[in-house]
Amino acid sequence: MTKKLYIKTFGCQMNEYDTERIISAFEMMGYGMTDDPSEADFAIINTCSVREKPSEKVKSEIGRLKKYKKDNPNFKIGVAGCVAQQEGEAILDSNSYVDMVLGTDGIPRIGEVVERVENGERIAVTEFSSDNFTIPNFSRNRSVSAFVTIMKGCDNFCSYCIVPYVRGREKSRKSIEILDEVKYLVDNGVKEVTFLGQNVNSYGKNLDENINFTQFLYMATKIDGLERIRFVTSHPKDFSGELVDLISSEEKICEYLHLPLQAGSDSVLKKMNRGYSYSEYFEKVSMAKEKIKNIAISSDFIVGFPGEKDDDFLKTLDAIKEIEYETIFAFKYSPRPGTKASDIEDDVSEIVKSQRLKKLLDEQEKITSRLLKSQIGEIQEVMVEGISKKDNKVFSGRNRRNRIVNFVSSKVLKAGDIVNVKILEAKKNSLYGEKI
Ligand code: SF4
Repeated sequence: MTKKLYIKTFGCQMNEYDTERIISAFEMMGYGMTDDPSEADFAIINTCSVREKPSEKVKSEIGRLKKYKKDNPNFKIGVAGCVAQQEGEAILDSNSYVDMVLGTDGIPRIGEVVERVENGERIAVTEFSSDNFTIPNFSRNRSVSAFVTIMKGCDNFCSYCIVPYVRGREKSRKSIEILDEVKYLVDNGVKEVTFLGQNVNSYGKNLDENINFTQFLYMATKIDGLERIRFVTSHPKDFSGELVDLISSEEKICEYLHLPLQAGSDSVLKKMNRGYSYSEYFEKVSMAKEKIKNIAISSDFIVGFPGEKDDDFLKTLDAIKEIEYETIFAFKYSPRPGTKASDIEDDVSEIVKSQRLKKLLDEQEKITSRLLKSQIGEIQEVMVEGISKKDNKVFSGRNRRNRIVNFVSSKVLKAGDIVNVKILEAKKNSLYGEKI
C-alpha cells in the first residue's frame, strides 16, 4: 500500500513553495498525499516564525498529531521551516514524539534524512548550527518575494513520474491574468517573483493567444516596480537559445537556472523517457554558461533507476563534475504505482541506491564548496529578506544566483532593499559578507 504524507503549512509563499518541494521529494520516495493525518504515515508541520509564538503553535500541532502514534507506531512526525531552522535539536529534546527537524536548507537532503527517520533515527538537520554559523535567527518581516503559478500539469510522461496522472495535462494561464497578478503583488510590496510550472518552457502551447515562455517573460520584465524575475522548472528538451538570449540581455531576470538532468547515462535517460541525450543537454547548458555571465545552475537527479549499472551511475557522477552545478537535489528511485517505470523490475538494491546517493551528494558538496569559495571577494547584488532577531546589524537575503547571503550592515535595511554586498566567507551552503 502507498505510504501517505500529511503536511500542514504555515506562513508565507516561500513556505508554500518549500512545501511543494517537500511534497515532490516525498512523491519521489513513493508517498501519496492525504489531507487526513489519521491516514498518514508521515506528518510534517511546515512552520513559520513570522507569526506570534511559533513554538507554542508547533507544540499544539504536535500535541494534535501525537495521538496517531498510538494507532500506528510507525507514524512519523517532522517539523520543517523557519521554526525548525531556529530551534533545531531543542524541538527533539522537548518533544519526544518528534522524529525529524528539517531546517529551511535541509530540503536538498530530505530523501536521505527521511530514510534514516523511517529506520528509527531521530534527526535534526539545521545547517546554520551544523555549519558553525554564528548568525542566529532570521525571520522574514514581510513577503517581498512571491511565487506565481503560470501553468499546471505536464505532458511529458517521464516514466517514473506520477505528475501527469495526478495533475493532468499542461494548462497555461492566460498571460494577461498572470501579469495582472504580478502587478497586484508589486503594488503590495513584492519586488521579486518566481514563475512556477512543472515545465515552464512549454508555457503557452495550449493557449488561444500566440505566445511562448520567452515572450511571456519579456512582457513581465516591463512591469514597473518588479525588480527581479526567476522561474522553475525548465525541461531541458524545451529549453531554447531564444530564452538564453533574453536572460542574458534583461537585467531583471536573475542568473539562475534549474535544469533537471536526472541521469548522466543515455540509456537511463531513454528509459526515463526524458527526451534528450546527455550531449544534447550538455550543449544547452554550455550555451547558457557561455552567454549568461555568472549563471548558477541546479539540477535534480534520480539514482538507482531500474537497470542503472555502475557504469551508468559513473556517468551521472562525471556529469556533475563536468557541469559544476551550484546545487543538486538527488533522490533514490522508488516506483510510483501507475507509472510506466513501476512495471519494470526495481532491480537496484537499496544498499546500492544509498551508496550511490551518498557518493553523489558527497561529490556535490565538494563542488558547491569550491564554487562558493570562488565567490569570496566578489561584490554581489542581494535583496534583503530578513533581519537577525539578536543583532539588528545582521541581515539575510539572496543573491541573483539564488544563494542565501548573510551580511552585516551599519545602515538599517528593510525587506526588499537591494544592496551590494562584498563576500567575505563561504559557509557550507551560504555566503557571508558585508554591505558596501
Ligand atoms: S517533466 Fe517529467 S518529471 Fe517533470 S513533471 Fe513532467 S513528467 Fe514529471
